[in-house]
Amino acid sequence: MDEQTPKHVSESGMPVGARETDDAPVENQANEEEACARAPIGMLCELTHRCPLQCPYCSNPLDLERANTEMTTEQWQDLMRQAADLGVLQIHLSGGEPAARKDLEDIVKVAAEVGLYTNLITAAVTLTRERVEKLRDLGLDHVQISIQDVEPGNADKISGYKNGLEKKIEVAKWVKELGMPLTINAPIHRHNIKSVPKMIDFAVELGAGRIEIAHVQYYAWALLNRAALMPTREGFNEAAKYVEAARERLKGILVIDAVVPDYYAKYPKPCMGGWGRGIVNITPQGRVLPCHAAESIKGMEFDNIKDKKLAEIWLNGDAFNKYRGTSWMKEPCRSCDRKEVDYGGCRCQAFALTGDATNTDPACSLSSLHEEWANVAEKESHAPSTDFVYRRVGGAKKADTNPA
Ligand code: SF4
Ligand code: SF4
Repeated sequence: MDEQTPKHVSESGMPVGARETDDAPVENQANEEEACARAPIGMLCELTHRCPLQCPYCSNPLDLERANTEMTTEQWQDLMRQAADLGVLQIHLSGGEPAARKDLEDIVKVAAEVGLYTNLITAAVTLTRERVEKLRDLGLDHVQISIQDVEPGNADKISGYKNGLEKKIEVAKWVKELGMPLTINAPIHRHNIKSVPKMIDFAVELGAGRIEIAHVQYYAWALLNRAALMPTREGFNEAAKYVEAARERLKGILVIDAVVPDYYAKYPKPCMGGWGRGIVNITPQGRVLPCHAAESIKGMEFDNIKDKKLAEIWLNGDAFNKYRGTSWMKEPCRSCDRKEVDYGGCRCQAFALTGDATNTDPACSLSSLHEEWANVAEKESHAPSTDFVYRRVGGAKKADTNPA
């Protein structure tokens, strides 16, 4: 999949032409005109949770959805039509590994026919040249390939998959030969942070237009593996300095997007660009989420596209309205002048680390829990790495402690 970017799709996953959103709060009016005026820019479609890789930072839930519960081709195709009607501009076909679905072509075909900009977010290891070419011919607009490292042995170790890097390079070359724009997505953590300079060179050599230096965000599998993944503050600062210099040097050649790790930030990011503001996420079974990790907030219920229309869920769904805008906020967010900048950060992180999703995200230096939280990161990052708990069905059962 995106290897961890979906929480930041609005920052880093929008390939081109991202439209500005209406800043007005979404109200409970599901008429068609309203829906179009305030539609999500992007829709992240987790077509499947199946994936041949086992990245320990995967943003899929710990309880992976089984293949036999996934939506059918027709259901995904209908969703594409609904998204276009609603006014969605871009869809991100993700997973798991979206190419694990044999009907990926059928879904892309309809998405392109209804005018959606289509971005395939892939681990790439199972793609063939014929398939990439067919997808292009059917209207696929953009390909994003994730990498674990540019050192093959380390990439194998991180992904739990042999010789993946070689295959990714091959696919990236096909994408360019076939005239499609390419993004490289590199989730960064303590086991590959030293490779950031080489990853940037790698993206340039492959002719990518963009690289995402995506410091791992600690949800789902990454939270479980935090003690194995957390880089030191010094390591992060060094990488950040390099990225800044490379950005200048490579202007006009490569766009470098960087997602700062929350644990070392002063203020949180506007997670998903703000809850229910610009992005909608669909799970393999068809649940419609404001953010891919939203199901980690206990007690919340989510509508399913099999039961209700996308526009109705987006505009009026309880889950979307619960943390939309700013009226739900407690102090210090409520009276903070950044509340419409970062929307209080991430609800899932607030829930995971404080037990209450309405609390200020501890990533914020104004949170009373921030210092304690940052100290955990300092401590874990300087301790020896724990073993990876690899992402796989039942894999999370191996871990009997809650890292939060
Ligand atoms: S295991 Fe890795 S490649 Fe597969 S979906 Fe998760 S992050 Fe993406
Ligand atoms: S207090 Fe809330 S709104 Fe203010 S910066 Fe922190 S998270 Fe953002």
